Amino acid sequence: MTLVVTMLASGSSGNALLVRYAETALLVDCGLAMRAIEQHLRFVGMSPTALRAIVLTHEHGDHALSAGKLARRYGLPVVCNSATRAALEHHLDGVTVEELPISQRASLGPFDVTSFLVPHDAAAPVGYCMTVAGVTLGIAVDLGSWTPDLVTRLRAADLLVVEANHDRARLTAVGYPLAIRRRIFSPLGHLDNVQAGTLLAQIGADGRTRDVWLAHLSERANSPRVALKRVQGVLDQAGVSALRLSVLPRKAILAPGKLIVWQSDTRLRQMDLFG
Ligand SMILES: [Zn+2]
Ligand SMILES: [Zn+2]
Repeated sequence: MTLVVTMLASGSSGNALLVRYAETALLVDCGLAMRAIEQHLRFVGMSPTALRAIVLTHEHGDHALSAGKLARRYGLPVVCNSATRAALEHHLDGVTVEELPISQRASLGPFDVTSFLVPHDAAAPVGYCMTVAGVTLGIAVDLGSWTPDLVTRLRAADLLVVEANHDRARLTAVGYPLAIRRRIFSPLGHLDNVQAGTLLAQIGADGRTRDVWLAHLSERANSPRVALKRVQGVLDQAGVSALRLSVLPRKAILAPGKLIVWQSDTRLRQMDLFG
């Protein structure tokens, strides 16, 4: 059986990732309007009631916008840590919350899910490693810096979803107010392209082949072309050649053949052949 990861949205206007294995599906972040999430699930032939859980990285609106609403409407549990739950306050009223303490493991259907703290200006923001049938998805979006522990954890991943938020020069040039720039640049803000490349170079230093989705690109202060070029440049300089980069668009295109999907069977087989 195959782990299938589908990108529904990525960026400051909304984040959601659909993770499926056999009959079990998880929605990682729910930062779109409920109607948009319903529409996306319908497009991939899934009812929201088939979701095992909505798994949240943190409480910011671009990640948690309709989590409570969707969970209430379809009777779905939300998985998050206690600080994120507290920060979401009444948004989770009436919702079953399955608390996953930071750095602990939970079984969600066949998925073995571990969370780990990421440095970001939210209550207790986390990344996740989700393992099923020997394949691991690693997620670290919305982080301003990282720790050696994060590198170690993400080394387990076959598919990495990592933020490359902005190009530093562009962010300075686009004229955001100083306070916003300071927030984004801070160790609790967002990774720029070079930082993302440096993190990936550390993860990829072990030489293992992995796929990487560069996520959460700023609309005004980055572009897919620039992100790819800068991150690849850092990897080249570091002599890391086994990572295969793609850039996530801000929104999924709901048309046949246009969805961004990663499937463990084909990707891992290709890696064996060409990696
Ligand atoms: Zn975000
Ligand atoms: Zn955030």
